[in-house]
Amino acid sequence: MSFVNIFNHQIEIKRKKGMRSLRLSVKADGRIVLSVGRVYPLFLIKNFLQTKQAWLEDSLVKIKTRNSLFSLKHTALEITKYKKQTKVLVEERLKYFNQFYNFQYNRIAVRNQSSRWGSCSSKKNLNFNYRLCLLPQDLADMVIVHELCHLQEMNHSKAFWVQVAKTIPSYKILEKKLKKI
Ligand SMILES: [Zn+2]
Repeated sequence: MSFVNIFNHQIEIKRKKGMRSLRLSVKADGRIVLSVGRVYPLFLIKNFLQTKQAWLEDSLVKIKTRNSLFSLKHTALEITKYKKQTKVLVEERLKYFNQFYNFQYNRIAVRNQSSRWGSCSSKKNLNFNYRLCLLPQDLADMVIVHELCHLQEMNHSKAFWVQVAKTIPSYKILEKKLKKI
C-alpha cells in the first residue's frame, strides 16, 4: 500500500490487478482510497486527483457532518460544549432573522434530542437540537428560520413556506439536504 499527499489529505493508493479505471472513494471513517490498476503511472494518478479537490472536500464534509451528528455518541463534556455553542448561535441568528419577521417568542431551549433539529410549541417556545452548531451555517439557518416561521404558521402549509422563502429563497434545496443528514 502506498500514499499520495494532496490538498493536505493523505490518499491511500490501492493497486488492483486488472483494474482499468480509477476509483476514488471516501470511507465512513474518513479514509480516502484510490483504487487503480497495477501499472498505472503515478503522475497520471496525481493529475487525476488534481481535478477532484471540490468533490473530495465535499465528501469529507458530508462524512464528518454525518458522523458527528447522529451516529457518533458525544461525551457529556462535548454535549455541554455544543449546547453552549448552539445557544449562542441560535440566539444570534434568531435575532438577525427576526429583524425581518418581528414574531413574538418566549423561551429558547437547546436539547439533546436524537432525531429532530428543532420544534416550536403552541406556547411559542422554540427548541433546538444541541448538534445545530455542527451543521454548515446555511443548514443551521434553515432550521432556525423554519422554527421561527412556525410562530406564525403552525403547519407546513403554502403560507408557511411563503414566510420561509422571504429570508431563505433556496429553502427547498436546503430542506432536502437537511433530510439527508
Ligand atoms: Zn416544521
